[in-house]
Amino acid sequence: MSKHEIYAVKYAGPFTGSGAMLMWLKDWEKVVNRSYYIWCIKGGGDSVVVDAGVSLNLAAEKNLAGYVNPADYLSRIGIKADEVRHVVITHMHWDHTSGVSLFPQARFYIQREEYRFWLKDPIASDPVFKQFSDEAANAYLASLEGTDRLELLDGDRKILPGIRCLLAPGHSIALQAVAVETAKGTAILGSDSAHIFRNYRENWPSSIIMNLVEWMRTYKKLRENASSIDLLFPGHDPLMTENYREVAKNITRLV
Ligand SMILES: [Zn+2]
Repeated sequence: MSKHEIYAVKYAGPFTGSGAMLMWLKDWEKVVNRSYYIWCIKGGGDSVVVDAGVSLNLAAEKNLAGYVNPADYLSRIGIKADEVRHVVITHMHWDHTSGVSLFPQARFYIQREEYRFWLKDPIASDPVFKQFSDEAANAYLASLEGTDRLELLDGDRKILPGIRCLLAPGHSIALQAVAVETAKGTAILGSDSAHIFRNYRENWPSSIIMNLVEWMRTYKKLRENASSIDLLFPGHDPLMTENYREVAKNITRLV
């Protein structure tokens, strides 16, 4: 069994906001920080990048504080974005998809239902949903349909030795988490199934809920699949940068 290492790459932030964004319907009065990440899995042959971060264009348009091109960061740990062959897109919100064109050789792994919803369901163009997507990234992914650069998954799937995508809906229609075999056991990159570690510890969702019942089933599933709760990683917690060993600026080794 291959033992992988997992790195968290903070590409923007921290941003401040109400605590209720990170702990649904709680902590309205608290001001809390969140940061934006992509992740990298190394050690079993080809490196796998999890999520694509944000493109230079969108970062400028949104005036993203602390933004660095994720491709530049990856080069600091020896990964050339334009040579990466595998990118898992956890869900199609702009902070996770916008940078897809930074990976011109990659095959993108996305849940079929997530892809269908954001690109083909008329309701997704409603402003309440549209605020979460990046049109340029969606057009790029649409152009890959039918090619071997896009792999649409139907539920749980092993994509490489020691790396499995797990359907984990709730925050988005068909978000997927990534379960990784490491020296410490099975670790899970849950992306926005939790914005912060506390969501997992307190079994409480963060915000932007598409299906609360599914979200709570997802927590049960991810807990059952991870070797320990310490190996369940959230999408936006600044502690991923603060509490782990820094291997390059804003890049930490989680496992
Ligand atoms: Zn996010």
